[in-house]
Amino acid sequence: MRTTLIACLCCLFGINTFAQSHDLEEAYQNIESKVIEWRRDIHQNPELSNREFKTAAKIAAHLTSLGIEVQTGVAHTGVVGILKGDSPGKTVALRADIDALPVYERNDLPFKSTVTSEFLGEKVGVMHACGHDTHTAILMGVAEVMANNKDKINGTIKFIFQPAEEGPPPGEEGGAKLMVKEGVLKNPDVDAIFGLHINSQTPVGMIRYKSGGTMAAAQSFTINVKGKQAHGSRPWAGVDPILISAKIIDGLQTIISRETELTNEAAVITVGKIKSGVRFNIIPESAEMLGTIRTLDYDMKDKLNKRMMEMVPAIAKAYGGEATIEIKDATDITYNEPKLVSAMLPTLIRVAGESNVVEQKAITGAEDFSYFQREVPGFFFFLGGMTPGNTESFGHHTPDFIIDDSGLILGVKALTELSLDYLNKS
Ligand SMILES: [Zn+2]
Ligand SMILES: [Zn+2]
Repeated sequence: MRTTLIACLCCLFGINTFAQSHDLEEAYQNIESKVIEWRRDIHQNPELSNREFKTAAKIAAHLTSLGIEVQTGVAHTGVVGILKGDSPGKTVALRADIDALPVYERNDLPFKSTVTSEFLGEKVGVMHACGHDTHTAILMGVAEVMANNKDKINGTIKFIFQPAEEGPPPGEEGGAKLMVKEGVLKNPDVDAIFGLHINSQTPVGMIRYKSGGTMAAAQSFTINVKGKQAHGSRPWAGVDPILISAKIIDGLQTIISRETELTNEAAVITVGKIKSGVRFNIIPESAEMLGTIRTLDYDMKDKLNKRMMEMVPAIAKAYGGEATIEIKDATDITYNEPKLVSAMLPTLIRVAGESNVVEQKAITGAEDFSYFQREVPGFFFFLGGMTPGNTESFGHHTPDFIIDDSGLILGVKALTELSLDYLNKS
């Protein structure tokens, strides 16, 4: 039953699910030490979002040396490589993000980062504390394997080295959203996109994935409540914006607990900042609240937004005040197209082994790979980076974040085989 289903889905995507590996074992063995070397070099020379000049130059030089057509300066510092196979066919895109974070590295490594920079007017350390150095090195490795095996490619591979995944500095555009805006998925038009994220808490050798909503859409909101100032002893002479804010917070949480079908997907509304008043005995004039919304389903996101827009001014009005709410998109849903996931799962199982490919729960964190997936079917999965034998490791974005680079070669294999399988029509 399962086999039949997968076979049918594969027909839809024109993929031969049962293709054997592409006889690239020797190529993978030869590339591993280079990938580790690139990763360590990039790790030691991290650059912040939209400032990845040296990283981009290294990538561009590497792709050029392989005879791959290269575009630079895409979405500021992005690099795109286009490799045409010996036979015509579809176009598959592979994406690696290349930016680092304003974090001082605390690890004692021979390739530890000691780089400092300025971020929002402050001196900061710079560190690949999310593992994008590994993504960059993996994709450079895939590019080299592919460029040496063009006879195996039925179609075109687009290598997308994306800046600013962590978000461009305030006032700047950047990341996947800007790449899409600049047409990265066009000419040649991309049919499907694959990407991965290393994970410091998943053991080396393991791949985790989820079909459908995988990482959440992140939105921010600002609520301004207007009341009427009064003496704290005479509340009836004013309109209390603090009390109204409390009612609004309560109301927002009932959207989640009473109106959202949580058995379908998780959803979160968090008020993370509230500011009002100056003194214990003054009812202030106004209050401001900031928060975030996380959703994993497009309809749920629309419904939640609609209800928040309705509820916030209505609650304020009920208590004699006024309130406005503004919702801004930060990142969309990282949505793994279920048909594509079903079709490509056998490939991941082939490269990692059945017991090493594990389905996981949704993550309420966000990832801007979602902007590519809004345009074309995509599959984004997680690659193990925790040292074999360890049971715990530090989380992403921390000064102690560490990745064991023995896990990188599986990323090279996975992205290479996924691309070749996708392009090899049955
Ligand atoms: Zn990150
Ligand atoms: Zn990341």
